[in-house]
Amino acid sequence: MPDPTELLMAWETGLSTRAPRRALLLHALASPAAMVEDLLDVPVGARDADLFGLRGSLFGERMPVRATCPHCGEEIEFDFAVDQVPQRATRGPEALRVESGEWTVRSRVPTVGDLLAAADAGSGEEARRIMLSRCVVSASRGGTPVAAEDLPPHVQEQIAEAAAAADPCADIRLKLTCPECGRQATAELDIASYLWAEVDAWARGTLLDVHLLAVAYGWTEPEILALSPTRRRHYLELSGHA
Ligand SMILES: [Zn+2]
Repeated sequence: MPDPTELLMAWETGLSTRAPRRALLLHALASPAAMVEDLLDVPVGARDADLFGLRGSLFGERMPVRATCPHCGEEIEFDFAVDQVPQRATRGPEALRVESGEWTVRSRVPTVGDLLAAADAGSGEEARRIMLSRCVVSASRGGTPVAAEDLPPHVQEQIAEAAAAADPCADIRLKLTCPECGRQATAELDIASYLWAEVDAWARGTLLDVHLLAVAYGWTEPEILALSPTRRRHYLELSGHA
């Protein structure tokens, strides 16, 4: 588990970057022994499983989630438990095979590196094209090789479905029953942005604590960060701030 100084450094770096790179910074905290190049080759769902683990150790196993009912507009609040996360993918990255009529495609599940490459695209259409061309290993029609971008939409859809089935953690959707209207709703849980928002709130609160205690006692930032949360809270109370 990262200490407060490491978490603050990742937060500070992440402030000036965009979502996929923030997720990479968080993943590096969850896998301190791994090189960045290795993290780029991790399937997105396996990364998300690691981020759920990091979330559990930083902020606990229960995650409050909010969703809006698409039928009546009611705000639904519920707790998601980190241990409800599906098992991470066990199949290798080259394992996917899609056959549809005369089309045969071998592909792999998207990795963190694929997401980063697609994030630099100018449009959603371009991002999809980049993901497809990176993840399709080979494609043929009636035995004749074809380029990934020439695959028809229904085959592209099947490739995406095969990847989702092989890497279930990559796209977590929660089925809910609306307490107001009783109908079914679906909520997406994007752990990377969820955890980033929590780290952001934690970092801003921590800097405020450092500021208040530095003013009250003249301590330095490393001294204050070295205090346990319990001691920090007590000193904040004693100095009239909590
Ligand atoms: Zn409803």
